[in-house]
Amino acid sequence: MGTALTAVRGKSTRRATSPRSAAKKRKRSPRLKAEALREFGTKLRAWYRRNARDLPWRKTRDPYAILVSELMLQQTQVSRVLDFWHRFLQRFPSLQHLAEAPEGQVLAQWQGLGYYARARNLHALSRRVLREGARAWGDEPSGSVASNDASVGKESSNVSHGTGRDDLRATRPPVAFAADGTPSWLPAEAEKLRRLPGIGAYTAGAVSTFAFERRAALVDTNVARVLARVFAPKLNPKRPRDFTVLWQISEATLPRTGKASWTHNQALMELGALVCTARVKRCEVCPVSRVCRSSETKRTASKRAKSVR
Ligand code: SF4
Repeated sequence: MGTALTAVRGKSTRRATSPRSAAKKRKRSPRLKAEALREFGTKLRAWYRRNARDLPWRKTRDPYAILVSELMLQQTQVSRVLDFWHRFLQRFPSLQHLAEAPEGQVLAQWQGLGYYARARNLHALSRRVLREGARAWGDEPSGSVASNDASVGKESSNVSHGTGRDDLRATRPPVAFAADGTPSWLPAEAEKLRRLPGIGAYTAGAVSTFAFERRAALVDTNVARVLARVFAPKLNPKRPRDFTVLWQISEATLPRTGKASWTHNQALMELGALVCTARVKRCEVCPVSRVCRSSETKRTASKRAKSVR
Protein backbone atom coordinates (compact mmCIF):
# COMPACT_ATOMS: atom_id res chain seq x y z
CA MET A 1 0.00 0.00 0.00
CA GLY A 2 1.29 3.48 -0.79
CA THR A 3 1.83 6.17 1.82
CA ALA A 4 0.87 9.57 0.44
CA LEU A 5 2.57 12.75 1.62
CA THR A 6 -0.39 14.28 3.42
CA ALA A 7 0.48 17.97 3.09
CA VAL A 8 0.55 17.68 -0.66
CA ARG A 9 -2.57 15.59 -0.81
CA GLY A 10 -4.44 18.11 1.42
CA LYS A 11 -3.70 20.97 -0.94
CA SER A 12 -4.94 19.20 -4.01
CA THR A 13 -8.36 18.39 -2.55
CA ARG A 14 -9.20 22.00 -1.76
CA ARG A 15 -8.54 23.61 -5.11
CA ALA A 16 -9.83 23.00 -8.56
CA THR A 17 -6.74 22.20 -10.60
CA SER A 18 -6.14 22.01 -14.31
CA PRO A 19 -4.98 18.64 -15.64
CA ARG A 20 -1.55 20.13 -16.27
CA SER A 21 -1.06 21.49 -12.74
CA ALA A 22 -2.45 18.24 -11.30
CA ALA A 23 0.14 16.35 -13.32
CA LYS A 24 2.86 18.70 -12.04
CA LYS A 25 1.76 18.11 -8.46
CA ARG A 26 1.81 14.37 -8.95
CA LYS A 27 5.37 14.74 -10.20
CA ARG A 28 6.35 16.60 -7.04
CA SER A 29 4.57 14.38 -4.54
CA PRO A 30 5.65 10.79 -4.99
CA ARG A 31 3.69 7.98 -3.41
CA LEU A 32 5.88 6.27 -0.89
CA LYS A 33 5.38 2.57 -0.44
CA ALA A 34 5.41 1.44 3.16
CA GLU A 35 7.58 -1.59 2.35
CA ALA A 36 10.09 0.59 0.50
CA LEU A 37 10.27 3.02 3.44
CA ARG A 38 10.79 0.15 5.85
CA GLU A 39 13.47 -1.52 3.76
CA PHE A 40 15.21 1.79 3.16
CA GLY A 41 15.43 2.54 6.89
CA THR A 42 16.43 -0.94 7.98
CA LYS A 43 19.17 -1.35 5.38
CA LEU A 44 20.45 2.18 5.86
CA ARG A 45 20.83 1.85 9.63
CA ALA A 46 22.41 -1.61 9.40
CA TRP A 47 24.93 -0.25 6.88
CA TYR A 48 25.71 2.71 9.15
CA ARG A 49 26.45 0.43 12.10
CA ARG A 50 29.08 -1.34 10.01
CA ASN A 51 30.54 1.63 8.13
CA ALA A 52 30.21 4.81 10.20
CA ARG A 53 33.23 7.02 10.48
CA ASP A 54 34.59 7.54 13.96
CA LEU A 55 33.77 11.23 14.46
CA PRO A 56 34.16 12.83 17.88
CA TRP A 57 30.83 14.70 17.87
CA ARG A 58 29.08 11.35 17.46
CA LYS A 59 30.42 10.27 20.85
CA THR A 60 28.91 13.10 22.84
CA ARG A 61 25.35 14.14 23.64
CA ASP A 62 26.37 17.58 24.94
CA PRO A 63 23.96 19.90 23.08
CA TYR A 64 26.44 22.79 23.07
CA ALA A 65 29.28 20.68 21.62
CA ILE A 66 26.92 19.27 18.99
CA LEU A 67 25.63 22.71 18.08
CA VAL A 68 29.23 23.92 17.59
CA SER A 69 30.00 20.91 15.35
CA GLU A 70 26.88 21.40 13.26
CA LEU A 71 27.61 25.08 12.66
CA MET A 72 31.25 24.38 11.82
CA LEU A 73 30.29 21.60 9.40
CA GLN A 74 28.11 23.92 7.32
CA GLN A 75 29.94 24.49 4.02
CA THR A 76 33.09 22.96 5.50
CA GLN A 77 34.69 19.54 5.16
CA VAL A 78 34.84 17.17 8.11
CA SER A 79 38.65 16.90 7.95
CA ARG A 80 38.97 20.67 8.36
CA VAL A 81 36.48 20.87 11.19
CA LEU A 82 38.08 18.21 13.42
CA ASP A 83 40.94 20.37 14.76
CA PHE A 84 38.86 23.53 14.95
CA TRP A 85 36.14 21.78 16.94
CA HIS A 86 38.56 20.43 19.55
CA ARG A 87 40.37 23.75 19.90
CA PHE A 88 37.16 25.77 20.08
CA LEU A 89 35.75 23.57 22.84
CA GLN A 90 39.01 23.73 24.77
CA ARG A 91 38.92 27.50 24.65
CA PHE A 92 35.14 27.83 25.23
CA PRO A 93 34.04 24.61 26.96
CA SER A 94 30.46 25.72 27.64
CA LEU A 95 27.77 28.06 26.40
CA GLN A 96 28.54 30.28 29.37
CA HIS A 97 32.27 30.47 28.62
CA LEU A 98 31.37 31.48 25.08
CA ALA A 99 28.87 34.13 26.20
CA GLU A 100 31.38 35.68 28.56
CA ALA A 101 34.07 36.03 25.90
CA PRO A 102 34.39 39.19 23.79
CA GLU A 103 33.33 38.70 20.17
CA GLY A 104 36.91 39.37 18.98
CA GLN A 105 38.17 36.31 20.85
CA VAL A 106 35.43 34.12 19.40
CA LEU A 107 36.21 35.28 15.86
CA ALA A 108 39.93 34.76 16.45
CA GLN A 109 39.27 31.16 17.47
CA TRP A 110 37.16 30.71 14.32
CA GLN A 111 39.86 32.16 12.08
CA GLY A 112 40.64 29.88 9.15
CA LEU A 113 37.20 28.26 9.05
CA GLY A 114 35.56 31.11 7.12
CA TYR A 115 31.87 32.08 7.02
CA TYR A 116 32.27 34.18 10.15
CA ALA A 117 28.55 34.86 10.37
CA ARG A 118 28.31 31.39 11.92
CA ALA A 119 30.63 32.40 14.76
CA ARG A 120 28.83 35.71 15.29
CA ASN A 121 25.47 33.98 15.40
CA LEU A 122 26.72 31.34 17.80
CA HIS A 123 28.10 34.03 20.08
CA ALA A 124 24.85 36.02 19.88
CA LEU A 125 22.90 32.85 20.66
CA SER A 126 24.99 32.09 23.75
CA ARG A 127 24.50 35.61 25.12
CA ARG A 128 20.79 35.61 24.45
CA VAL A 129 20.27 32.24 26.10
CA LEU A 130 22.36 33.19 29.12
CA ARG A 131 20.50 36.48 29.53
CA GLU A 132 16.97 35.38 28.75
CA GLY A 133 16.85 31.66 29.47
CA ALA A 134 13.72 30.05 28.03
CA ARG A 135 12.36 33.46 26.96
CA ALA A 136 15.04 33.33 24.23
CA TRP A 137 12.89 30.81 22.35
CA GLY A 138 9.51 32.21 23.41
CA ASP A 139 8.78 30.15 26.56
CA GLU A 140 8.18 31.35 30.06
CA PRO A 141 10.99 29.88 32.15
CA SER A 142 9.68 27.18 34.47
CA GLY A 143 12.84 25.84 36.09
CA SER A 144 11.01 22.65 36.86
CA VAL A 145 13.51 20.47 35.05
CA ALA A 146 16.30 21.54 37.38
CA SER A 147 14.51 20.17 40.38
CA ASN A 148 14.36 16.80 38.71
CA ASP A 149 16.31 14.26 40.74
CA ALA A 150 18.21 13.26 37.62
CA SER A 151 20.14 16.52 37.85
CA VAL A 152 21.59 15.91 41.29
CA GLY A 153 25.33 15.56 41.21
CA LYS A 154 25.51 15.97 37.44
CA GLU A 155 27.74 18.66 36.05
CA SER A 156 28.66 19.18 32.46
CA SER A 157 30.53 21.47 30.17
CA ASN A 158 27.21 23.08 29.43
CA VAL A 159 26.66 24.23 32.99
CA SER A 160 27.85 27.37 34.70
CA HIS A 161 31.25 27.33 36.36
CA GLY A 162 30.55 30.63 38.07
CA THR A 163 33.25 32.73 36.47
CA GLY A 164 33.13 35.77 34.23
CA ARG A 165 30.88 38.72 33.67
CA ASP A 166 28.09 39.34 36.12
CA ASP A 167 25.45 40.27 33.55
CA LEU A 168 25.83 36.86 31.92
CA ARG A 169 26.28 34.78 35.02
CA ALA A 170 23.55 32.18 34.80
CA THR A 171 21.50 31.78 37.92
CA ARG A 172 18.86 29.87 36.00
CA PRO A 173 18.71 26.13 35.98
CA PRO A 174 19.17 24.12 32.80
CA VAL A 175 16.01 23.72 30.77
CA ALA A 176 16.44 20.20 29.48
CA PHE A 177 18.55 17.08 29.72
CA ALA A 178 20.36 15.58 26.78
CA ALA A 179 20.09 11.88 26.03
CA ASP A 180 23.04 11.05 28.33
CA GLY A 181 21.66 13.19 31.18
CA THR A 182 23.80 16.23 30.36
CA PRO A 183 21.95 19.30 31.72
CA SER A 184 21.36 21.80 28.95
CA TRP A 185 20.41 25.43 28.56
CA LEU A 186 19.23 24.69 25.07
CA PRO A 187 15.74 23.32 24.44
CA ALA A 188 15.28 19.81 23.09
CA GLU A 189 12.51 20.59 20.61
CA ALA A 190 13.47 21.48 17.04
CA GLU A 191 10.76 24.16 16.73
CA LYS A 192 12.12 25.97 19.81
CA LEU A 193 15.75 25.68 18.71
CA ARG A 194 14.76 27.32 15.44
CA ARG A 195 13.83 30.51 17.25
CA LEU A 196 17.45 31.09 18.28
CA PRO A 197 19.87 33.22 16.23
CA GLY A 198 21.56 31.40 13.35
CA ILE A 199 19.66 28.13 13.78
CA GLY A 200 17.82 27.02 10.66
CA ALA A 201 15.56 24.03 10.15
CA TYR A 202 18.42 21.62 9.49
CA THR A 203 20.51 22.63 12.53
CA ALA A 204 17.45 22.54 14.79
CA GLY A 205 16.65 19.00 13.65
CA ALA A 206 20.28 17.95 14.03
CA VAL A 207 20.66 19.25 17.62
CA SER A 208 17.29 17.85 18.64
CA THR A 209 18.07 14.38 17.33
CA PHE A 210 21.84 14.15 17.93
CA ALA A 211 21.90 15.63 21.45
CA PHE A 212 18.46 14.82 22.81
CA GLU A 213 17.70 11.73 20.71
CA ARG A 214 14.37 13.20 19.67
CA ARG A 215 12.47 11.92 16.67
CA ALA A 216 13.23 14.96 14.49
CA ALA A 217 13.68 15.07 10.73
CA LEU A 218 16.55 16.86 9.06
CA VAL A 219 17.43 17.74 5.49
CA ASP A 220 20.64 19.35 4.32
CA THR A 221 22.08 19.33 0.81
CA ASN A 222 23.44 15.78 1.12
CA VAL A 223 20.28 14.35 2.62
CA ALA A 224 18.12 16.12 0.03
CA ARG A 225 20.17 14.59 -2.75
CA VAL A 226 19.93 11.07 -1.30
CA LEU A 227 16.18 11.26 -0.64
CA ALA A 228 15.46 12.70 -4.08
CA ARG A 229 17.49 10.01 -5.81
CA VAL A 230 15.93 7.21 -3.82
CA PHE A 231 12.28 8.26 -3.68
CA ALA A 232 11.63 11.11 -6.11
CA PRO A 233 14.15 11.55 -8.92
CA LYS A 234 11.95 14.17 -10.57
CA LEU A 235 12.31 16.55 -7.64
CA ASN A 236 14.94 19.25 -7.83
CA PRO A 237 16.34 19.86 -4.31
CA LYS A 238 17.38 23.35 -5.38
CA ARG A 239 13.74 24.36 -5.91
CA PRO A 240 12.19 25.52 -2.60
CA ARG A 241 8.83 23.79 -3.12
CA ASP A 242 10.58 20.52 -3.98
CA PHE A 243 12.80 20.95 -0.94
CA THR A 244 9.63 21.12 1.18
CA VAL A 245 8.49 17.79 -0.25
CA LEU A 246 11.90 16.32 0.62
CA TRP A 247 11.36 17.37 4.25
CA GLN A 248 8.09 15.45 4.20
CA ILE A 249 9.88 12.43 2.76
CA SER A 250 12.55 12.72 5.46
CA GLU A 251 9.83 12.67 8.12
CA ALA A 252 8.16 9.69 6.47
CA THR A 253 11.41 7.69 6.61
CA LEU A 254 12.02 8.29 10.35
CA PRO A 255 11.82 5.25 12.60
CA ARG A 256 9.46 5.23 15.56
CA THR A 257 11.86 5.99 18.42
CA GLY A 258 14.18 8.89 19.10
CA LYS A 259 17.13 6.57 19.70
CA ALA A 260 16.69 4.89 16.31
CA SER A 261 16.20 8.34 14.76
CA TRP A 262 19.68 9.30 15.99
CA THR A 263 21.18 6.40 14.01
CA HIS A 264 18.86 6.97 11.06
CA ASN A 265 19.76 10.63 10.64
CA GLN A 266 23.48 10.00 11.08
CA ALA A 267 23.20 7.21 8.51
CA LEU A 268 21.38 9.40 5.98
CA MET A 269 24.13 11.98 6.21
CA GLU A 270 26.86 9.34 6.06
CA LEU A 271 25.38 7.80 2.92
CA GLY A 272 25.32 11.23 1.27
CA ALA A 273 28.94 11.83 2.26
CA LEU A 274 30.42 8.44 1.38
CA VAL A 275 28.28 6.58 -1.16
CA CYS A 276 25.71 8.80 -2.88
CA THR A 277 27.76 11.96 -3.30
CA ALA A 278 27.19 14.97 -5.52
CA ARG A 279 29.98 13.80 -7.84
CA VAL A 280 29.54 10.05 -7.85
CA LYS A 281 26.87 7.44 -7.18
CA ARG A 282 28.39 4.23 -5.85
CA CYS A 283 25.24 2.21 -6.47
CA GLU A 284 27.14 -1.07 -6.64
CA VAL A 285 27.97 -0.87 -2.92
CA CYS A 286 24.92 1.13 -1.81
CA PRO A 287 22.80 -0.49 0.91
CA VAL A 288 19.54 0.98 -0.42
CA SER A 289 20.13 0.19 -4.07
CA ARG A 290 17.22 -2.28 -4.18
CA VAL A 291 14.63 0.39 -3.34
CA CYS A 292 16.33 3.32 -5.05
CA ARG A 293 14.62 4.77 -8.11
CA SER A 294 17.91 6.13 -9.46
CA SER A 295 20.01 3.06 -8.89
CA GLU A 296 22.51 2.51 -11.70
CA THR A 297 22.80 -1.13 -10.66
CA LYS A 298 19.09 -1.73 -11.29
CA ARG A 299 19.23 0.10 -14.62
CA THR A 300 22.21 -1.90 -15.82
CA ALA A 301 20.54 -5.15 -14.78
CA SER A 302 17.30 -4.30 -16.62
CA LYS A 303 19.23 -3.26 -19.76
CA ARG A 304 21.05 -6.56 -19.62
CA ALA A 305 17.77 -8.46 -19.24
CA LYS A 306 16.28 -6.62 -22.25
CA SER A 307 19.28 -7.34 -24.47
CA VAL A 308 19.09 -11.03 -23.58
CA ARG A 309 15.43 -11.12 -24.65
S1 SF4 B 1 21.51 3.33 -5.29
FE1 SF4 B 1 22.86 4.83 -6.22
S2 SF4 B 1 21.60 6.63 -6.60
FE2 SF4 B 1 20.52 5.32 -5.15
S3 SF4 B 1 21.05 6.10 -3.13
FE3 SF4 B 1 22.47 4.46 -3.60
S4 SF4 B 1 24.22 5.47 -4.57
FE4 SF4 B 1 22.54 6.91 -4.58
